[in-house]
Amino acid sequence: MPRDPLKHAVFEAIDAEKETIIALGESLYARPELGYREHFATEQVAELFTGLGFDVEKNIAVTGVAARPTRVSPGPVVSVLGELDAIVCPEHPDADPDTGAVHACGHHIQVAAMAGVALGLSAAGAFDHLDGTVNFMAVPAEEFVEMAFRARLKQEGKITWYGGKQELIAKGFFDTTDIAMMAHALDLGPGPAAVIGATGNGFIGKEIRFTGKEAHAGAAPHDGVNALNAAMLAMMNIHAQRETFRDEDHIRVHPILTKGGDAVNVVPADVRMESFVRGRTIQGMQDASKKVDRAIQAGAMAVGASSTIHSMPGYLPLLTVPELDALFKENALPFCGPRVIEGAEFAGSFDMGDLSHLIPCLHPFTGGVTGNIHTREFSVSDPEAAYLFPAKALAGTLIDLLRDGAKKGKAIIDGFSPRLTKAQYLGFLETTLETRTVDQDPL
Ligand SMILES: [Zn+2]
Repeated sequence: MPRDPLKHAVFEAIDAEKETIIALGESLYARPELGYREHFATEQVAELFTGLGFDVEKNIAVTGVAARPTRVSPGPVVSVLGELDAIVCPEHPDADPDTGAVHACGHHIQVAAMAGVALGLSAAGAFDHLDGTVNFMAVPAEEFVEMAFRARLKQEGKITWYGGKQELIAKGFFDTTDIAMMAHALDLGPGPAAVIGATGNGFIGKEIRFTGKEAHAGAAPHDGVNALNAAMLAMMNIHAQRETFRDEDHIRVHPILTKGGDAVNVVPADVRMESFVRGRTIQGMQDASKKVDRAIQAGAMAVGASSTIHSMPGYLPLLTVPELDALFKENALPFCGPRVIEGAEFAGSFDMGDLSHLIPCLHPFTGGVTGNIHTREFSVSDPEAAYLFPAKALAGTLIDLLRDGAKKGKAIIDGFSPRLTKAQYLGFLETTLETRTVDQDPL
């Protein structure tokens, strides 16, 4: 079948499956689950792909699904991804009252769109016309939250890394993938619209503990070491680093205090802080991270408190492949007309950034939603634009990549120079993960 009629057959099939696709998205929205807890979503996805005749592997990293065709076609392997997890935003009207979890980042849309690609290609019999293999992967834990829970999973040997794609890369789930693609929701106004070629910051996560000495806050503060003062000085010290950050590195450091003391009448002896150190390049992130550590340790030193900094590899900056973005644009245009914005710089982070250092990745943003992500305003305002448009644009891109001897797919793979090998990537994760304690003897 020629390329264009094949695409049209797939688009019609996606329209015909509209109710199933939207119902999947809405069912995930109604049951938001945080990272590595996406058991309901895993079951939903596994059931759908089992029904389509895929070889389904469940709980690939605590949760998550890998769905592979039973017959592998020679040629490149493209993986279509959808992220399963929700974010914590208790202010959102649809947040789970117990956990505060809600799909305010639109990951439920990604999963439904991924299912839409599979449903469309299957119903149109398109897999038989592709010179390559298409895998589908519902991936867990994109949001970097619930560190204590993830630390426990790590201790129990259930995960090695806190981020879902980090974990799946380490476990080899992307070893045979040549190109990965997904679409992320974004408020782009009503109707179908897309942003392509967007980059994102990477980050290093930090959990910080200041240890002082308790004392009666009124009667004998001179006997204490005030860990809250250490933390406040550390914050000011971090602010004093900001003029040294280069504009092009897009550094963002945004610490919060998660524990400020135990009782107002006791000099705080145990104060906790968390922060991300974000940047556009690995080097920029590492430089800023060292300055933040120095600032924290200096704050503690000033008052004679001890500091412990636990640094964790967050995500790598998101890299783009212009040829992949151009192909997606070509496939998006028939549905959204001129409403394709080219290039954007996100200071936020995506764990697709990690994968983008290893293989060509496509990570456009698509509309049909209203309100900023991670806020109470986020909602699906146009279900067809939100769920069906990305499914069609991704399916069309896939067909272009893998038709005609997968000429376009192979050209992208051959022209791609990975920024890191898998071994270098895992080495980066290992060296970034560290705990550093500086003890002080109070005077
Ligand atoms: Zn997201």
